[in-house]
Amino acid sequence: MGDEPGITRDRIYGQARYDGRQFEVIDTGGIVVNESEYIPAQILKQAKVAFDHAAHIIFLVDGRGEITGTDRDLAQMLLRLGKPVTLAVNKADTVAREDLAHEFYGLGIRDVFPVSAEHGMGIDDLLAHVTQGIAETPVEETETSIKVAIIGRPNVGKSTLLNALTGEERAIVSPIAGTTRDAVDAHVRHGETNYVFVDTAGIRRKGKTKEMTEKLSVVMARRHIRLAEVVLVVLDATEGVLGLDATIAGYAHEGGRAVILCVNKWDTIDKGKKRGFEQQVRDQLKFMDYAPVVFLAAKTGAGVDGLYKLIREVHASAGQRISTGELNRFVEALHFEERKIYYITQASVHPPTFVVFTDRAGPMHFSHERHLVNQIRRRFGFKGTPVVLKTRGKKTTRGMQTKGARR
Ligand code: GDP
Repeated sequence: MGDEPGITRDRIYGQARYDGRQFEVIDTGGIVVNESEYIPAQILKQAKVAFDHAAHIIFLVDGRGEITGTDRDLAQMLLRLGKPVTLAVNKADTVAREDLAHEFYGLGIRDVFPVSAEHGMGIDDLLAHVTQGIAETPVEETETSIKVAIIGRPNVGKSTLLNALTGEERAIVSPIAGTTRDAVDAHVRHGETNYVFVDTAGIRRKGKTKEMTEKLSVVMARRHIRLAEVVLVVLDATEGVLGLDATIAGYAHEGGRAVILCVNKWDTIDKGKKRGFEQQVRDQLKFMDYAPVVFLAAKTGAGVDGLYKLIREVHASAGQRISTGELNRFVEALHFEERKIYYITQASVHPPTFVVFTDRAGPMHFSHERHLVNQIRRRFGFKGTPVVLKTRGKKTTRGMQTKGARR
């Protein structure tokens, strides 16, 4: 379908669902904007069927170009239809916010949303707005489960923890048709929530030598991290935090998964040592300061039940979305010296990923990035999940698109 303006397509219909609200999307196809003999009435005629059906009209313009006479005429005609009209300014990731305001509000459409269709940015806010009047339709019975992996060195108690988590709940262990080997997931319902402990067969698989089992534990951890949304990193209280623990936990961090650090075999340790151990965990696993630390004994079941609630919490954090409006208010109140931040949008979840638009290109220094992430956490939480920042410098991304140079 290409990028060039002027390509005309057939109308495309699609069923969509947002936040429980069901609706149909009609794409009216390309509208010729740079044709000299363009006549607005013809455009309307062509798209009339769609307008007649529509409850809400989204007028999508390219934020990189200047507003044309065509845009203005079209906006006026759309407003005269007597239906709600929302202006979506696409490719907004390369345009400064101030420019958006000045240029596009001039079209007379009150509701303006900067979006990047390509990067999925701003789409949530737009959808929330255009679907706000639609009643929720009940979700079909497709219950979802939280996918959980249990990873760690050999002998830290992964199998025992799995048994403790699934056994008492009468786990239904279902063999899933494996592709390369048999993977066995354990399905558990606890309270109102379903959990899947992924690839539990792997947990029991043990090699022969110590070196072999250690290597295998890393291989399995990497595999399990890929399959899961929440990762339980099991540590052994009797042995402390070792290099291999840090390696395994590091993969969970890099994989962007929500993490809970589980200090197992706590029954064998003097309760007074809790603080010291937690400090050791924090020191050795500095890169995961967001991960909650829990003390438990898989063998006796102590502390195991509380894990379910924590799994739900970190899973929710990893899927949490912050609206652009909230992020704007956050940026306004932000004290950040390193460079000017124009605005921030959340591009995705699992892990929460933010795009930070600044006056300078290039990645931020690690310590500044950390500082900004900490402020985001202080404001919005995100317990138990990594938070990813991507920096966009206004100067380089806009390139030639300064005011004078715009076409
Ligand atoms: P995995 O290799 O990580 O799956 O570890 P296992 O679950 O096989 O456990 C290794 C050993 O640690 C076994 O002898 C378990 O009985 C023991 N173990 C596991 N959990 C606990 C615990 O909470 N307390 C104590 N004292 N021993 C435990």
